Amino acid sequence: MTDNMETAELQLKPRAVTQRRQNRSVMYQRIVVKLGTSVLTGGTPKLDHPHMVELVRQCAELYRQGREIVICTSGAIAVGRHRLDFPDIPNTVTNKQMFAAVGQSRLMQMWERYFEIYGIHVGQILLTRADVTNRRRYLNARDTLHTLLEHRIVPVINENDAVATEEIKVGDNDNLSALVSTLAEADLLLLLTDQPGLFTADPRTHPDAQLIPEVHKIDETVKALAGGSVSGLGVGGMATKLQAADVARRAGADVVIAAGSAPNVITRIASGESVGTRFPAIENPLENRKRWIFAGRKPKGCVVIDEGAAQALLKNGRSLLPAGVIAINGSFNRGDTICIEGPDKQELAKGITRYASGDLYQIAGLHSDQIEAKLGYAYGPVVVHRNDLILL
Ligand code: GLU
Repeated sequence: MTDNMETAELQLKPRAVTQRRQNRSVMYQRIVVKLGTSVLTGGTPKLDHPHMVELVRQCAELYRQGREIVICTSGAIAVGRHRLDFPDIPNTVTNKQMFAAVGQSRLMQMWERYFEIYGIHVGQILLTRADVTNRRRYLNARDTLHTLLEHRIVPVINENDAVATEEIKVGDNDNLSALVSTLAEADLLLLLTDQPGLFTADPRTHPDAQLIPEVHKIDETVKALAGGSVSGLGVGGMATKLQAADVARRAGADVVIAAGSAPNVITRIASGESVGTRFPAIENPLENRKRWIFAGRKPKGCVVIDEGAAQALLKNGRSLLPAGVIAINGSFNRGDTICIEGPDKQELAKGITRYASGDLYQIAGLHSDQIEAKLGYAYGPVVVHRNDLILL
């Protein structure tokens, strides 16, 4: 089955998260806990086992209250490096994949052993971007995750680093955890890291910097606060955490960035205490299909549209027609996700294109009834259908 056919098969589904949220008696029912390498190693080159046990203890406490926990773990590469006694070899992709292959099983053993203390079973899921961008694989991954949760098994998820090449990998576990929250329809994503949260300035250089307790909009000002900060052994920094927060809150989850070393950090946040920086879920979340478009797919290119088309999209809830397209950037196929920019190059929307870039060059500016005469075929009058489009 091709990706296009899968796209055409997508159906709108009601939002399970909203329903669960209305029913729930506890603050958060389904919680994704993302643990960065820096949290699991305490900033050293080795796993901090007592700290891992402490994090598991907190998860077990929530589990006993009937809540559902999903662990998104980093650390495979760091553990593999340690296991092989820090060999003096170059940091190539294949060497890192070797470390991940060695480290992932060891890491998983540790999770299994520590959850076992509390009589809790764990199940491993290793994902790549392709597992969430391909509709059929997305549904498979989602079903597995939901089945584990139904059976009270704690899913422990990492990227499948050993096989993930540049084109198919998510690349950092912050974004991976956002995809996992989307798949799991979680109501809380907890990004635990070595920082207490998002600050008004870099606390290392500005001692008077203040922790921001709540962020409602992730705009350019907020992004600027994150800078490009990258901590020690992991891949992500504050910038990837904000990207992840933006995806997860649009999918209906509250997101909290907090320090993994803060006492009882997981249980306190899960009971609604203000710790770290919280990004409340967007109240009217995107439905299932649109979440998938938004979270899973990297745009392959962009189209620039004229003012009339921008108004039709933004104000009148219309589809994008070829008549409104004034420029095409990048090379994409029918069925790919593209971004849609206004005449001022401001990104307005993302959506699935029904025409490849090559076709669009020929039909841009034309009326829809001229498409067939121009191309010799037509896939319908619209470039991006309203149902395949998310306004940003
Ligand atoms: N998946 C990587 C690992 O397990 C970590 C990626 C990250 O630090 O974000 O080593």
